[in-house]
Amino acid sequence: MYTESDCIMISALQHYLFCKRQCALIHVEQSWEENRLTAKGRLLHERVHEQNSESRGDTIISRGLRLRSLVYGICGQADVVEFHASPHGVHLTGHRDTWIPFPIEYKKGKPEKNNCDAVQLCAQAICLEEMLGIAIPYGALFYGKTRRRMAVAFDDALREETVKLIDKVHQMFTNKQVPPPIKDKRCTQCSMLTICLPDIPHAKGYRLRRIGESLSIKDTAT
Ligand code: SF4
Repeated sequence: MYTESDCIMISALQHYLFCKRQCALIHVEQSWEENRLTAKGRLLHERVHEQNSESRGDTIISRGLRLRSLVYGICGQADVVEFHASPHGVHLTGHRDTWIPFPIEYKKGKPEKNNCDAVQLCAQAICLEEMLGIAIPYGALFYGKTRRRMAVAFDDALREETVKLIDKVHQMFTNKQVPPPIKDKRCTQCSMLTICLPDIPHAKGYRLRRIGESLSIKDTAT
C-alpha cells in the first residue's frame, strides 16, 4: 500500500505516454509551461468542474470528484462520474437505492490512435472501485471536436496496461530520471518545448537553462 504523499497524479500517466521526458520535467523537476493546447484543455476542464452536481431521473451526475487509490498509489480528479441506478450498485450517502459509477473524461480534441485517454479513464475507474468497493465495467470519453461519447470497456487488457504504466511512472519518480528528448513531431505541440530545449544536447540544454535562471537571479539580486 502507498501513502497519500507517495501518490502520483493520474495526469502523469498521459504525460508519460506522450513523452517520458515531458512527464519527468513536469512531475520530477516540477516545471510547467502553458501553450495554446494546454490552455484550451484547462479551460474545458474548468468549465466542466464548475457546474454543480445534479440528479436526472435514474442518474446522479457528480462533477470534479476527487479520486485516490492507495493500492496503486495514484490520485486525481474525475471530470464527471455518472451514477446509474442498479440493483447491483452501491449505496451513496444522501440517496436511496443503489448505484453503479460510470466515469466520463472530457477531451478537447478527437479520438487518438493510441490508448492514452482510455488508460487515464481506466486509472480513474480503478480509484473509484477502491473507494466504493465495487467493480466498474464501463466508462466513456467525450471528445469536444466530435461532440460524441465513446464507450470504454475496462477489460483485463486495459487494466493490465494501466497498472504496468502506473508501475513505470512510480519507478521513474523514485529514480528521479529525466530521459533525453525524443525530438520528433510531438515536440511542436508540446508546451514544455522552451524548457526542454530538444535541439540542444539534452543534459547540456537543461543545465544551460538552469545556469541562465541562476544568472538572472543573481542579476536581480545585485
Ligand atoms: S519538447 Fe519534445 S522531447 Fe521535449 S518534453 Fe516536449 S515532446 Fe518531449
